[in-house]
Amino acid sequence: MLRQLILAASRDGRVKAVVAGAPLSRGVVRRFVSGESVEDAVRTASGLAAHGLQVSIDHLGEDTLDAGQAESTVKAYLLLLDRLAAAGLTAGGRSEVSVKLTAVGSAIDRGLALDNARTICEAARAAATTVTLDMEDHTTTDATLLALHELRRDFPGTGAVLQAYLRRTEADCRDLAGAGSRVRLCKGAYKEPPSVAFQGAREVDRAYVRCLGVLMAGDGYPMVASHDPRLIAIAGALAAGRPAGSYEYQMLFGIRPLEQQRLADAGETVRVYVPYGDEWYGYLMRRLAERPANLGFFMRALASRS
Ligand SMILES: Cc1cc2nc3c(=O)[nH]c(=O)nc-3n(C[C@H](O)[C@H](O)[C@H](O)COP(=O)(O)OP(=O)(O)OC[C@H]3O[C@@H](n4cnc5c(N)ncnc54)[C@H](O)[C@@H]3O)c2cc1C
Repeated sequence: MLRQLILAASRDGRVKAVVAGAPLSRGVVRRFVSGESVEDAVRTASGLAAHGLQVSIDHLGEDTLDAGQAESTVKAYLLLLDRLAAAGLTAGGRSEVSVKLTAVGSAIDRGLALDNARTICEAARAAATTVTLDMEDHTTTDATLLALHELRRDFPGTGAVLQAYLRRTEADCRDLAGAGSRVRLCKGAYKEPPSVAFQGAREVDRAYVRCLGVLMAGDGYPMVASHDPRLIAIAGALAAGRPAGSYEYQMLFGIRPLEQQRLADAGETVRVYVPYGDEWYGYLMRRLAERPANLGFFMRALASRS
């Protein structure tokens, strides 16, 4: 209920103006975002690499209606990939990038977004790494999977995200469980109606396990994106028969870092999703919605500065 309220409020321009405009928000943001500059992102990737953790880096931003902004986002990714490669962090896919199609122009023109995504994929290939397409709200799912299909013709390593809370996802997992297919399975972070998405936490968890079962039984490369201890344990059990290195765990920067390290120390591949940039509003609101305790943290920060 609180989750739905926060996600609904996050779409309200007045709430955005208050939260994004308040300097005090930055302190809270720092818990979830590596910093604003490309140097911050590379430094974070390097620090995590020193602890045996891989990264997928996201240049923050979404829902742009400005072609110039979409172009700036592409340039930011090219610079990022260049810096990661120069720092020796991309070899073997140790650092890859995550891209939201709405950040590169899909709400303006899908062809423009596809061209922009292609440009980023080319740079990723030149840097010996890959791109994963983030998944946004359900109105974008078909277009994102279509773009994935197009991109995989030339860049077969391009990854997708599937959201277990969507009723359609088990079927999408079946479609994407083939050889060479990289699929990041997450619960889903947007406000979705009951017609398309399971609403209860238990229902979503059960859907996640069904989807994971499909992916783990397939020939692709499942990426288990969850901080949920039960799901992580189930993933371990389902992966028992798979060859080493044929799946990985993924978690968000700043969330359960000790668990990230524990899995990596146990020999698992663990990738941390590292966002950077100044367009952090939508990302922060989704993190607040996931955990009411974060909202308390945020409100205390507000109160202590007022
Ligand atoms: C690598 C990665 C990429 C993702 N990409 C996408 C995407 O493209 N599209 C999309 O819709 N969603 C994405 N998500 C978000 C995802 O859908 C969930 O909203 C998020 O991961 C929380 O779900 P959970 O599986 O961790 O389970 P939950 O049941 O939400 O959390 C389990 C436990 O994890 C910890 N935890 C979880 N979230 C938080 C938080 N915000 N702050 C503090 N502790 C927390 C708590 O201890 C909690 O008890 C991504 C998640 C990851 C890890």
